[in-house]
Amino acid sequence: MKAASVKLKRQPVCESEKSCLESCSHNDSEEPPGKRSISDDLEEEPPSRHSICCDLKEEPPSKVATTRYRFFRDIPDSLWNDWKWQFRNRITRVEQLAQFIPLSTEEQAQLRLVAMRYPLSVTPYYLSLINPDNPDDPIRKQAIPSPMEMTMGSMGLEDPLDEKRDTVVPGLVHRYPDRVLLVLTDICPMFCRHCTRKREWRNGGWVRSPAEVEAMLNYISRHKAVRDVILSGGDPLTLSTRHLEDVISRLRKIKHVEIIRIGTRFPVVLPQRIDNELCSMLAKYGPIWLNTHFNHVREVTPEAAQACDRLLRSGVPINNQSVLLRGVNDSVEAQTRLCHALLRIKVRPYYLFQCDEVQGTEHLRTPVEAGTKIIEGMRGHTSGLAVPTFVIDLPQSGGKVPLQPNYVLAQTEGELVLRNYEERVFHYRNPAKLVPAEPPAEVLCSAGGVPVNILQKAAANSG
Ligand code: SF4
Repeated sequence: MKAASVKLKRQPVCESEKSCLESCSHNDSEEPPGKRSISDDLEEEPPSRHSICCDLKEEPPSKVATTRYRFFRDIPDSLWNDWKWQFRNRITRVEQLAQFIPLSTEEQAQLRLVAMRYPLSVTPYYLSLINPDNPDDPIRKQAIPSPMEMTMGSMGLEDPLDEKRDTVVPGLVHRYPDRVLLVLTDICPMFCRHCTRKREWRNGGWVRSPAEVEAMLNYISRHKAVRDVILSGGDPLTLSTRHLEDVISRLRKIKHVEIIRIGTRFPVVLPQRIDNELCSMLAKYGPIWLNTHFNHVREVTPEAAQACDRLLRSGVPINNQSVLLRGVNDSVEAQTRLCHALLRIKVRPYYLFQCDEVQGTEHLRTPVEAGTKIIEGMRGHTSGLAVPTFVIDLPQSGGKVPLQPNYVLAQTEGELVLRNYEERVFHYRNPAKLVPAEPPAEVLCSAGGVPVNILQKAAANSG
């Protein structure tokens, strides 16, 4: 087999990224960029070190094994497991990508054009989950640009959820009465091709300034109805743990904030970020909930499982918000495998989102019926705990609407005709509404304890 030599160059980081990585304990001497020779011989990999922890009957193991030992063989565990190393060594240029994924000269030219509008960024870890020999690989579709982002780019909207309209101070979205979204940065470890906030990628990477954070916290302090604050991005875990603690500890001092939620894809695309330092910090400020974003069973790796386990042991419950994507997870089988794998690592399948109407994502969107059919194919066939709620996040600030298959065949006042998951039909008696009976006269009491009817009689006699 032909030997491949792949050079990992330290990526140029913007000022904001430097601030995210400020507490990095590694210096450049730990990573000799461009000096690593990587063999692409998969046969030499020790299978136990890279096998996926899920049931993968549909693909032979050699095709789904992580390619860490094919492409990153010479990277020692100490660096591979260091999230800052992973972050610094993201693949952001098409020329780099072509060293891992077979791309013709024409394909490279097309992808360069796409990346000018919608940049590319993949962590070495996530890249290692891709089967480079399969152009339709479901992991690849989430990370590697497609020319269809441009050819179908006129369809959809830049900001379908109209988040700008609900922005009350820079970075703070207040749409629902009791909860707010606090956007701390637009930096993500990976640019997911289906992202709702693709419009932000061209802005070059920013982190909210101390003054902006102050303004957001002031707003929350003044609005006592806010009991739930969601830290979002970009990805808030790109901030250093110290920076995050500064925000979280100040939120915790606001009495009416009951719950803090973190929206992050780190457990999926860079699970090494979920280290002991982060978990110990989060444990101090509970209740903190974490929403993450697994889309495919092959993302549920031993590394991801370990990250989730650390969070759970720190008292942070984890919910999964998957996005329904064409060719990635748009079948009953794909969703069932994913949700079963999530339950095995104690992550609750929470939402299955219809992919938002975002420019540059049309090729990944499915008809809405695909989602309801998936739920229908799961409900009853597996535990209810494994069935997420299928939702559409409506444009123009309409909020989330859950969609269910229709199980009601007919309904009268006294009865429902229902079908179950096996298409068997059942008649179900609908209890009548309880009409309060006329209370006895002596029960009708005035505030002073004298029966009302007696008072009325007395009033009539005196007249
Ligand atoms: S991690 Fe989330 S915010 Fe970042 S690119 Fe992916 S989907 Fe978008």
